[in-house]
Order: sequence, then structure tokens, then C-alpha cells
Amino acid sequence: MGFMDIHSEAVVVDTHCDTLKCLLPEFTRNRDSMWEDRSGLGMCARSELGHVDAHRLMEGGVDCQVFAVSSERSRTPSHPLRTALMMIERFHRECEACDVLTPVTCSGEILEAKRMGKVAGLLSIEGADVIEGRIEMLGVYRRLGVRMVGLVHSLRNQLADGVTDRRTGGGLSELGVQAVEELDRLSMIIDVSHINDEGFWDVLDLTENPVIASHSNSRAVCLHPRNMTDEMILALAENGGVMGMNFAPSFVHPEKATLKRVVDHVDHIVDLVGPDHVGLGSDFDGIPSNPAGLEDVTKMPGITRELVEREYGEADIKKILGGNHIRLMKDVIG
Ligand SMILES: [Zn+2]
Repeated sequence: MGFMDIHSEAVVVDTHCDTLKCLLPEFTRNRDSMWEDRSGLGMCARSELGHVDAHRLMEGGVDCQVFAVSSERSRTPSHPLRTALMMIERFHRECEACDVLTPVTCSGEILEAKRMGKVAGLLSIEGADVIEGRIEMLGVYRRLGVRMVGLVHSLRNQLADGVTDRRTGGGLSELGVQAVEELDRLSMIIDVSHINDEGFWDVLDLTENPVIASHSNSRAVCLHPRNMTDEMILALAENGGVMGMNFAPSFVHPEKATLKRVVDHVDHIVDLVGPDHVGLGSDFDGIPSNPAGLEDVTKMPGITRELVEREYGEADIKKILGGNHIRLMKDVIG
């Protein structure tokens, strides 16, 4: 079977993009913003700007794209809750406007969207700053369609420490512990990308569900604090979790990031824990430049081609492209 046939048959899932930030002036109109303003353009029209829109997701054969909602104090004005709600509203409006994009909240709806020839959009929160200190807000976000939550973004917040705050080094706060318990109770997926190592171990001790590292790579392959040590990957596998391969050049290779170097991370993780715990989490529209061969989401089939060339079996390729993420979703959110 050719790589394109495998790619089309697979349920392809990408567990992280920052596209919603390109659609909100709160992000694009900051003086030092890295996001090109696509607020007037939206996601329906095929664009050359940025990395992701509805048409390019179809072209790239992506069946489910997770859209991050985030609002960190260093990057946005001081209204995290309002900013998050505006992002969620914009996501739902885009789904109403684009024939091919449909909002989903469980794995069954992703499979149904694929059958209908549509792209499923799932909401995640990147950094629970957006609950503004109230655990009850997690339930509110769930009602609005969010099914995945990262406790912290780059910087320390009320729940946990992000890896970019290098001097803090703390585990979860009391509120962070309560958030893990509440996310388990609400059957929402916990995302451990961005949390520091101490927080990662706390989350794994506390949660009863498999966790996702939606956009994190291997630290043994590329030394970066946003990537995961072998010890962490072993624990993630033991927990039944899945990690999505991030295309940010600095997480892929210290000198020259390419599509092949991304697949080197897959090789390492599969060697370490087998093929059941790795997937895709591009970070498209959130990365300052791209690995050669992964210029935007239309290039996703290149990953499949490379896996075929490295003689992965068809079943394992399908797991890596999205089967593992679907298994985790089915376990946690249904
Ligand atoms: Zn991120």
C-alpha cells in the first residue's frame, strides 16, 4: 500500500496548533506579536499565511485538529477569562462558517466527521490561567466544548510552574492538585506539555487517567526543557499516555530541524516504549519557523512517507498518525 493510501485511511490527529491566536486582535496586535493578523480572513478561505486553515487541513489529510485556547499574562492584555471566551466563540463561529470544519467533543464524533469528509476541531486549554483561580471554571469550559487542559503555559501560574520559569522548580500548588482531581471527575484530558518536571511527576502521581503531552518531543534526542526525558516517557507509557511530536525547530534539533529529524524523535520513543505512545502535535501557527519539509499542514503526508521509508508497519503508522490519540480520547472523554 502506498504512503498516501495509508495516510488517507488513517485517522490523522494533530493535538496542538495556535491558529486561534491568529484570529484574535488580542494576540496579533501586540507590538512584538509573532502572529500574522488573519482575523479578517478566518479559517474558511485557503490562505498562504501561517500554517493552518480548513482547506489546508483537508489537503494535509488531517482528520482532527486540536485548537489551543490560551492567554498568558506575558503575551496578552490582563483579561485571560475574556480572551479565552473570545477564542472559543471565534472557534465555534469558524465551524459554523466553514463547511468542512466541525466541532467535536469525543472520539466517536471524530470518526463520524471523517466518514462525512470533514475535519474535526477539538478545543484545548493551554495554561489554566484562564480559570482565574476558580476550579468551577473547568466545568464551564467543558460545557463550551473544551476537553483537554494543560495546567500551565510557559510561566508559573496559580496551579503549577511552566518550564520557561527556570528558577521556580515547584510542583503543583494546592489549586493545581484540586484541578487534577476536578479534571479527572469531569473526564477531561490533562495535557502535561509546558509543565516543569516536578509538576509532571505530581500530575502522574495524582491522576487516574492517561495523560497527553500534546506537543513535546524527546530530550535525549534534542536537549530542551520542553522535551521529555526517557524516564518521563517511560512513566507516560506506563500511565497509558501519548505524546504528540512538536515541529518547533528548537525542540527538534539544536542546529538543523527537518522532517527527518522529527521522525528521529518518533524512532527514539518507539525504541524506548513501543509504538503505542507517540503521535503528532505540530504546534503549527505557534512556531517561529518550520523544519524543512514541514512548511505547513499540507505537508503532513511527508511524515507518513518517511515512516514507510523507515519500514514501519502499516498498523504502527496508523497508530502514530492518530490511532494512539484516538485510543486515549476514547479512554478519557469517550
Ligand atoms: Zn505550547
